[in-house]
Amino acid sequence: MLLRHTAADAPEREALTVNPAKTCQPIGAMYAALGIHGCLPHSHGSQGCCSYHRSALTRHYKEPVFAATSSFTEGTSVFGGQANLMAAIETIFSAYDPEVIAIHTTCLSETIGDDLVQISTKARMEGKVPEGKEIIFANTPSYVGSHVIGFANMVKGMVTAFGSASEERSERLNIIPGWVEPADMREIKSLCATMQIPISMFPDTSGVLDCGLDGSTGIFPAGGTTVAELKTMGAAKHTVALGPTASGPAARELEVQAQVTSDVLEIPYGLRATDRFIDKLRTIAGVEVPAEITWQRQRLVDLISDMHQYFYGKRVALWGDPDQLVSLTEFLCDLGMKPVYVVTGTPGKAFAKRMEAALDGRVPEAKVKFGNAADMMLLHQWIKQESVDLLIGGTHGKYIARDENIPLVRHGFPILDRVGHQLFPTVGYKGAMRLCEQILSALMDQQDRMCSEETVELVM
Ligand code: SF4
Repeated sequence: MLLRHTAADAPEREALTVNPAKTCQPIGAMYAALGIHGCLPHSHGSQGCCSYHRSALTRHYKEPVFAATSSFTEGTSVFGGQANLMAAIETIFSAYDPEVIAIHTTCLSETIGDDLVQISTKARMEGKVPEGKEIIFANTPSYVGSHVIGFANMVKGMVTAFGSASEERSERLNIIPGWVEPADMREIKSLCATMQIPISMFPDTSGVLDCGLDGSTGIFPAGGTTVAELKTMGAAKHTVALGPTASGPAARELEVQAQVTSDVLEIPYGLRATDRFIDKLRTIAGVEVPAEITWQRQRLVDLISDMHQYFYGKRVALWGDPDQLVSLTEFLCDLGMKPVYVVTGTPGKAFAKRMEAALDGRVPEAKVKFGNAADMMLLHQWIKQESVDLLIGGTHGKYIARDENIPLVRHGFPILDRVGHQLFPTVGYKGAMRLCEQILSALMDQQDRMCSEETVELVM
């Protein structure tokens, strides 16, 4: 009963966050940077920030995460971090030989006002960046936004660095997958390959944060989008960006920078979001949907009709990142469930509109909140006022699950207390089947545990 003191009463508040439903910007920037092959993320700030960001990613993905830091001290905090960053760039290239250094700021370097454009230009002019090597960067002040905004900023940084305009147009599509698991990125690539559509995906953390045990000890795994591939983004036929919050800014930047047209879709979690994604690919690439994908869809629809009787009317509370929440909400409504409480710590007014579209009037009692005051305490207070049948979100919800005796399906970031989630996709039709199975198992396990002895059923 760790949260037993949480009161049901939830007075309106704006200037206080208790147990935030988000984390800090550089974590997202670091995750995005790891999706470039041979990239070493660099945290321009103090060591503690970098250690925290690395450990947050390692705890979720269960893989080592390497990153460098400018190692700010008291002196740097007063006089600025330029000298540290210049020295770091030189040392990193000579000691670790990455293809790219992806620099992001922290609260401290942002507050000082260090100018990454100026510093990286100076580093190039002084010959600290070897021929053929690259530096990209993103501003990620953590006192605004969230980890998702940090991810979006770094992906936009990739476009700024590599999205040159081209007179030629290739048949390739750019896919910006948003903040999803490495397995999801693998699944998106697999769907495109099944449809025989050539794509470039960036970032791509498959093969970086879901590696096999092959005995290699290098710091740069085999996966990730190569710099050569990144440099083709400006010549692509079109961009399909998944997740307006995480991928929208990069897609728009590429439109401006290289006139590559784009569509920004919700992440393909669930039946209808996947339908829209597949249909978009089909129309842009001018291909037929292959039978294999149609069969996947048919199996999902069959599964939903088998499970619908158990899902119908179940009340669900969700928390996490906006892009995940919108698609999950739509899918839960499609399953006949009621997503009654939804919170995300990530700011952005567009979220409310997107949620309205996802709910489509199907859950009039739904409460949706975003921004600083949309935290885990508020969610708990709502649940205390009127409980739910299921929780869906990251590990931070386990205390509510335990205190209120509500089953929890872990989904999103971070998942710190389970292993394996990074290996199983939840996007696409196959991913939706996995979500259905996880949700039903959680509900039925709870029924088995809680029902009286005389009502235990062998066949459910
Ligand atoms: S919130 Fe700011 S100071 Fe704290 S870990 Fe994140 S970047 Fe560092």
